[in-house]
Amino acid sequence: MTEILCDGCGIPATPEHIARRLRHLELATRFRPIHVGILFVAEAPPPRLENYFYYCVSDRSENDSQRTGSSGILFDSLLQGVGIPEPAGKGDEVRLAEFQKRGLFLADLVECPREEAVNDEAHQPAQLGEIESLIQRFAPTLLKRIQFSYKPKYVALISRRLRHLIPIFQQAGLGDRLLLDRGLPLPFPHSAATRERFVASLTEVLSKAGARAKGA
Ligand SMILES: [Zn+2]
Repeated sequence: MTEILCDGCGIPATPEHIARRLRHLELATRFRPIHVGILFVAEAPPPRLENYFYYCVSDRSENDSQRTGSSGILFDSLLQGVGIPEPAGKGDEVRLAEFQKRGLFLADLVECPREEAVNDEAHQPAQLGEIESLIQRFAPTLLKRIQFSYKPKYVALISRRLRHLIPIFQQAGLGDRLLLDRGLPLPFPHSAATRERFVASLTEVLSKAGARAKGA
């Protein structure tokens, strides 16, 4: 039997895995702008579907909890950082719709949760080695998605670990689309402490996009 590999993460695909991947695509597509002004790129979606950036309050059953951990911090700090505060009594859906209206979109380097991708790379000893090898493996697909599908004006990377993508973007002629803060990607807001740094860095990057748009 020929093994079918998932085109989101490259591991042998079970029906459950493909179903999960399609669910991600479906959730994200609802909020995908027609014209992407700024594409944010993170490493991979979180293992729990309920933590996924584009998972909405209206998708939650009563038993679902809210976004937890760093996924919750990323959701709030990214939306707040771009100027979409939490409106009283309104849920994720309203905020995500506003995010879409402003031409903002979030995608991932590896389109499936990294746990599985990491298992696939289990022979890789170091955590850092893992991300570097994931970048080598998935950068070509990401570049294709950017050039032929998202076609964003700008790209902002979320996670300093994605800095290895910078030379790859430059070689592909996409270097001037990257919005960097002092030459680096935005720091991922893992905790309340790093959240402030993330928002400051995001503000810096947004002002660069604004300045370039004014015809720099
Ligand atoms: Zn996959």
